[in-house]
Amino acid sequence: MAIIPVSTVNNEFKPFATNQKKVTNPIFAEKQPNIDNKMSSNALSAYFKGGMAVSFGGYDCSTGNFITKEIDDVPCCCCGGKMVLNKNIGTKAREFSALKGQELADKIRNNQDYFRCTQRLIANLIADEAEQNPDYDMGKAIQSFTPETLKQKTLDYCVKNLNAIDKVAKQATGDEKNPISALVASEIEKVQSGKTERVEFTEKLAMYEGLVKHEDYDKMLESAMNIPESYKDVKQIYGYAYGKALKVAKELIRPSMQTIEHIHPKSQGGPNNTENYIAECYNCNNPRGHMSYHEWLKVHPEYPINAQKHIEWFQQQIVDGKIDERYDTYPIEVKATLSKESDGRMELKVLNPERIKELREAKQAGQDVDIKAELEKEENKQEEVA
Ligand SMILES: [Zn+2]
Repeated sequence: MAIIPVSTVNNEFKPFATNQKKVTNPIFAEKQPNIDNKMSSNALSAYFKGGMAVSFGGYDCSTGNFITKEIDDVPCCCCGGKMVLNKNIGTKAREFSALKGQELADKIRNNQDYFRCTQRLIANLIADEAEQNPDYDMGKAIQSFTPETLKQKTLDYCVKNLNAIDKVAKQATGDEKNPISALVASEIEKVQSGKTERVEFTEKLAMYEGLVKHEDYDKMLESAMNIPESYKDVKQIYGYAYGKALKVAKELIRPSMQTIEHIHPKSQGGPNNTENYIAECYNCNNPRGHMSYHEWLKVHPEYPINAQKHIEWFQQQIVDGKIDERYDTYPIEVKATLSKESDGRMELKVLNPERIKELREAKQAGQDVDIKAELEKEENKQEEVA
């Protein structure tokens, strides 16, 4: 791994203020005194709650009693990360903010699913620091970064993930000179010159999807999705999160807040029905705005993989009796809506309501039911018929 001399890194940050009792944010240092903290946190809270009740265009977006609004740890249909209910963000954040040193590092490493891409990057950098410093909590760790080290660590982290892709590509193709490795090498050069452009990179990576097995492509995509969309994002989130441990934890976890996505946008006449709902984290829901699925799949190439995982999770909950039978028809309905909206690019594998009912009864009778295996059986049956 090449190390870029610090002198070549742009110093785009405000210098740290030292010897101050108050935690001074190196990004917002100058603006901070003008902010009425109570006001801004109320406004922020209303903004996040608003995201769940009212769309940003001012359209009424009531999502009724959609069942996932009661359940924590639902996998996001888009990024696949675990989602936290709005009312539980503080509790979840305290699980992290209460820890220091190695305990904190272990907690972060074992709970990567609660952080979205850029937040995960910062959380992992915090874990690295905490591992070296037994008295570091999230606040002390984040405050230990200088603008230069943050940038350097970000670039190193990107290179590490790119190297992981290279390793899989070489193993999967059995060819040291495969085109994926060549793509990765040129991306590493770019990263080392200070640029991270994930969307462009994943678009190119997607062209080689057919070159390797599904599971190898998924592995590569997983590493690629660790790369932040831009360094500007890292800097911005670092700026927001900078502060004491609980603030850091809340800011890093908040994007995992569960929201309900209208698959066909409400602003374009999408109905308020469960068939048009899918549970998506705030981080994925907010930037999609009115993007079509065609555009959205470029930004989130992992969406089809994670939407499938999401619907498998949902079906497993129904069969296990954790989601009631009113939702037996949901998987097949949401499949139809997603297929229509994506022009057939997203075809979920689901069970029909009759099969779900049978499986629930089998489960109640004491049999183990594994939805993933059931879906594979159905697929094989269909292939035989075809
Ligand atoms: Zn998400």
